Parts: sequence; structure tokens; C-alpha cells
Amino acid sequence: VEASYDRINEVDGEVKAFLTLNEEEAKKQAKELDEKLSDDASILYGMPIGIKDNIVTKGLRTTAASQILDNLNDPLYDATVVQKLNAENAINIGKLNMDEFAMGSSNENSSYENTRNPWNTDYVPGGSSGGSAAAVAAGEVLFSLGSDTGGSIRQPAAFCGVVGMKPTYGLVSRFGLIAFASSLDQIGPITRTVEDNAYLLQAIVGHDNMDSTSANVEIPNYSDALKQDVKGLRIAVPKEYLQEGVDPEVKEAVLSALKQYEELGATWEEVSLPHSKYAVAAYYLLAASEASANLARFDGVRYGKRTEKKVDMVDMFKESRAEGFGDEVKRRIMLGTFALSSGYYDAYYKKAQKVRTLIKNDFEKIFADFDVVVGPTTPTPAYKIGEKIDDPLTMYTDDVLTTPVNLAGLPGMSIPCGFSSAGLPIGLQIIARPFDEATIYRTAYAYE
Ligand code: GLN
Repeated sequence: VEASYDRINEVDGEVKAFLTLNEEEAKKQAKELDEKLSDDASILYGMPIGIKDNIVTKGLRTTAASQILDNLNDPLYDATVVQKLNAENAINIGKLNMDEFAMGSSNENSSYENTRNPWNTDYVPGGSSGGSAAAVAAGEVLFSLGSDTGGSIRQPAAFCGVVGMKPTYGLVSRFGLIAFASSLDQIGPITRTVEDNAYLLQAIVGHDNMDSTSANVEIPNYSDALKQDVKGLRIAVPKEYLQEGVDPEVKEAVLSALKQYEELGATWEEVSLPHSKYAVAAYYLLAASEASANLARFDGVRYGKRTEKKVDMVDMFKESRAEGFGDEVKRRIMLGTFALSSGYYDAYYKKAQKVRTLIKNDFEKIFADFDVVVGPTTPTPAYKIGEKIDDPLTMYTDDVLTTPVNLAGLPGMSIPCGFSSAGLPIGLQIIARPFDEATIYRTAYAYE
């Protein structure tokens, strides 16, 4: 824990991964744990962990990087994942920067600061869990939690050269995760190694009565999967994931990873996910629709900072939201409200739901014959801060390789698979059947 804070003092002035530190409390806990340390301590005992700022932490400021929650200094409860980490005696080092309400791909939508990519601080760390990925990459914490609605764990993990797992929808409780798009959101672990990732996921999974979409499934021991090899593993490589739009260096890194899998005894074949080209459109429609409903609660009364202007009630709602939300959040609320409005609902929302089913069916067909789907996590490595911020549509289309996984509810992971000529990390994405995180760990560990 001390090493964590030393490292934060050394580099976070530049990396800017943290929004809030828990230093006094964390050091006190570490001291107590030192005194109680016994041989049967859990693997996460005393381990420094950073938490994305959209995961509620009792008594510790939680803002989702939004001005509308700027005054939420003393939340009343812990998210289920935080309760679980506390039960393992992991230590919460602090809260990590993100795009406001997890809407974004570069951390430039944070209302507080730009987190920077530790590999080259002119570049974005990815998003929305950019702080979570950067903190691990910079050695500020060993483990972090992020959330992934359309790629927000995997994409920053790819940009920062770390390991990020988006679990199957329903595997990890969403209780205490500030909702963006509830049918897509999942919390997951970001770590340096695949092994650490398996330990952290093990600690946070499980059925939870506080989340109505929480799955009641048997949980395997993920670290057992690490001991197996990949002989006979059948890998599907969607041709849509390597076609134009994917940077040649990214493609090359993925193909060389596939070669390594062949040498390890796995086989791979090209397949097609024909509806993946509609994933970005369906995702942005559905995510914005759900966001417009979820963010209605931030009205300055039930939740959120109230305007100080002396106005009547309706203007108080309007002013509080106008002052509290950033541009990207407003854009999504407007888009979602429009898509859900009467007269447009069938044309947009319902249509997008149908496309979602087609995307899910595409994967199901592939998984009848293959164990995993492998491809790049992102079409390009990280880009420069400021390079894409004025072009939201390009940023949206960059999510083409990650959003299908959320729409289908599948588990997906990004692991490092080399570097671009500019020295920036490239991510390999591994996708498996629902609740088959074990096969992802097995596949990832063999490569690593
Ligand atoms: N980039 C995507 C978006 O902006 C993903 C966000 C996420 O997964 N939270 O919506």
C-alpha cells in the first residue's frame, strides 16, 4: 500500500489516473492487516486496488467524473463488488478517472481531468475506464475495477497494454454501479497479468439479490483453467474483424498471435459475423436510450447537485441538468429521448433490439463449432489527446470490435499482443460462450 502511494506521488501528477485518494484510511487498514496476517490469508489480502469512479464506495467520494455528482462526498453504501473486496481484505487505494458516466473512449469526457497514457503521455489511455487501465499500466496499483458497456474495459486495457476482462452479462453484480445502459453494463477486472485477473474476477463474481439481472450459475475456479494448455482449442477469427479500417500493424500483431497459437497446438479458421457491421449503430441507439432513462434521476432533487439560481421548480430541473451534465452526456440523453419517443420507437429502438438478436445469433452459430473467437480489441492503437474529440462519430465507429460482445452478453477479454511502430500497445481480444470465462483465461494464459 505504501509503494502504491509512493508511485502515485511520483507519477500521478502526469498520468492523472486518480480523482480521489483513500490514503489515510488505506494506510490504517494496511497496518491493521499487517498485525492480523496469518497463513490462511486470502490472495487479495492487503492488495492495493483502484476502483473506477462510477462504483459506489461508502464514505468515499464517488462522482462518475460528472459535475452533477461533484458533491457526492459521502455515499451511504458500498457496491456489492466493493463489499466483496472488503471481505477479502483488499485495500481500496482510491477512485479512478473515467469518461463522464462512462460515455466515451478516451477519458477526454471526464469533467475533471485528462488521464494520460503511461506509455506516451501525449496519447489517450482509452475509455471509459481510462483511469483504471492507466493506473495499472503505470504501476500505481496492482489491480483495478472498470466497467464495460461497449468496450470500456477492453479498449483502455488494449491502449495501455494491460489485461482487461468484461465478464458475461449477469456474472458480476451491478448493485452500486452508477447505471449507464443497464442491459449492457458489467463490472470487470483490469490487471497486469492474466493470473491476477483470474484472482480478481473470482473475488467479485456471484449471485446477488440486489441486482435483478444477476445470474445464479455455478462458478468455476478460474485459476484451474490457467493450468491447462490450448492443444486442440478451436479458434474462430471473424473476417469482419480484420478487414479495412483495421490498422495494418494491428492486423499483423493479431496474425502473429494466431501463429503462436498454432505452435501451441490450437487451430484457427476464418469465419463470418455478418451482422457485426450494424453493431455500432444498434449499440449507440440502445445505449443512448437506456442512458436517457437512467439519467432522468439526476434532477437536483432525488440525485445530483442543484443549481444555485433562484428559479421555479421546472427551471430548477432544467438548470441543474444544464449545469451538471457535459456535452457528450447531453448528446446521448437527447439521442435516446428521441429514439424512445412515440412515433419513433418502432423505427429505432425496436429495430435496434432486433439487430441485437441477429448479432447474438451470429455468435451462437460460431460457438457451435469453436471454443473462442479471437481478433483485435480495437482497430488502431491509442491516438493523441485532442485528435478525435471533435469528431464523435469517428470515436463511435472505433467501437466496432467491442460493442458486439456487449450486445450479445458474452465475456470478452483484451490482452497485450505487441506494440505499434510508435511504441504503443496493441490488444488481442478473446471472446467465449456465456459464462465460459474459464476458457478465456486458459486461452489468454497460454499466449502470455
Ligand atoms: N465507447 C463506448 C461509449 O462511449 C463504450 C463505453 C462503455 O463501455 N462504457 O459508449
